[in-house]
Amino acid sequence: MKENLAAVERRVAAACAAAGRPREDVRLIVVTKTYPASDVRLLHGLGVRDVGENRDQDAAPKAEACADLTDLDWHFIGQLQTNKVRSVMKYANRVHSVDRLRLVQALSKEAVRIGRDQPGRELGCLIQVDLEGDDQAPGNPSHQGRGGAHPGDVPAVADALNSAPGLRVDGVMAVAPLAGRYAGDPRAAFARLAEISSSVRRAHPAATMVSAGMSSDLEEAVAEGATHIRVGTAVLGVRSPLR
Ligand SMILES: *Cc1c(COP(=O)(O)O)cnc(C)c1O
Repeated sequence: MKENLAAVERRVAAACAAAGRPREDVRLIVVTKTYPASDVRLLHGLGVRDVGENRDQDAAPKAEACADLTDLDWHFIGQLQTNKVRSVMKYANRVHSVDRLRLVQALSKEAVRIGRDQPGRELGCLIQVDLEGDDQAPGNPSHQGRGGAHPGDVPAVADALNSAPGLRVDGVMAVAPLAGRYAGDPRAAFARLAEISSSVRRAHPAATMVSAGMSSDLEEAVAEGATHIRVGTAVLGVRSPLR
């Protein structure tokens, strides 16, 4: 794990150097999904302070088992159903996968209920963008349910987050699409995300986070301005498909 982390660190440093960006501009989130709490603990011992999880059933007990690691930030990066909001809100410092108004409402309601509508206690939210939406009209039924807002719907979700009590709009997130015009070209996908990030920042200047890039395409993401990369496999190894 230590060697893998060092190898990822070398890749990030090289990508930052190639892009003329300071290394501190890019934060590494280690995606610990399917791996046990003991691995989170080992990662913490190696200096990791940001971990990513995509399923509440997996993440909630793990976060509880690591509750003593108070300087650890939990990033929720998976599709989020409104019936999981209450649980996720107990441990997540940030949610990267806000993609619809109904979810904004549910998160805000819970944030207010538990007193996170006080200044400085808001839940940081990123709008997940479905870049495949560039190939489809907004609201196309065949396109819904995959996770991520259509690029055309991002401004409305950003405005809703901004005015929702207990929530803060921190930026945007995307996964490079496997189909459509960006298939096989993560750099083009992340360039498009950078463009969407700029337009969100025009309305909400503090929304500076760009969460993009995984084990296979972190270099392309850093080249296109990612501030946060989400890396699982390259640190922890290939996940069991059944877990
Ligand atoms: C699993 C996952 C990652 C990490 O992917 P790797 O290829 O293992 O680095 C990043 N982002 C999201 C949304 C994920 O679900």
